[in-house]
Amino acid sequence: MIIALDGPAASGKGTLARRLAQHFGLPHLDTGLLYRATARALMEAGERLDDERRAVEAARGLALMDFDEEQLRGREMGEAASVVAAIPAVRAALFDMQRSFASRPEGAVLDGRDIGTVICPDAKVKIFVTASPETRANRRALELARRGEKVNYADVLEDIRKRDERDSHRSSAPLLAAKDAVMLDTSALDIEGAFAAALAIVMGKKP
Ligand code: C5P
Repeated sequence: MIIALDGPAASGKGTLARRLAQHFGLPHLDTGLLYRATARALMEAGERLDDERRAVEAARGLALMDFDEEQLRGREMGEAASVVAAIPAVRAALFDMQRSFASRPEGAVLDGRDIGTVICPDAKVKIFVTASPETRANRRALELARRGEKVNYADVLEDIRKRDERDSHRSSAPLLAAKDAVMLDTSALDIEGAFAAALAIVMGKKP
């Protein structure tokens, strides 16, 4: 069974994907990390984020095992990831890695922006996770503060709005709910409530 979760930044899709993967004993891929790691490789090499040739090289050079999630989850890297993610050739370079993860015999849980639309259009379960920008900014600000980053709510809300705008309006694989996705608004839900709702959606789709 493939479970595809898509949605904007800090909607809760990552936490739900992890919990669903645990619950069903499936492997999980947070595809945002691929774009974050590509951006980080470029920045470390002193390259521009919009240099298509270098960005494709960086994407092709990624090895899933080498990810330092702690470093990749920072605020600056989320913004940089959304710049490289808008380059169609970068998306193409990361396509096979995601497809092969999804084609494991036991199935998989993947979360991102284009899983239900581009990477796994045949996924049995597609959930589009949303929440209001203010709720998402609150959650992200708390998460960053827990990581020890100095943040202020207004800046985080501004980041979220900017990223929504860029991710939704790019020409290649824009953030979009698949036609057959079930919408899940987590604005008024805590983690347990959101997990229960997501689980109910999966159970309703499971053969
Ligand atoms: O989900 P996360 O915040 O880690 O994603 C970082 C950025 O990577 C997103 O803002 C988006 O631009 C990009 N992304 C994408 N497609 C995916 C996953 C992430 O374009 N499947």
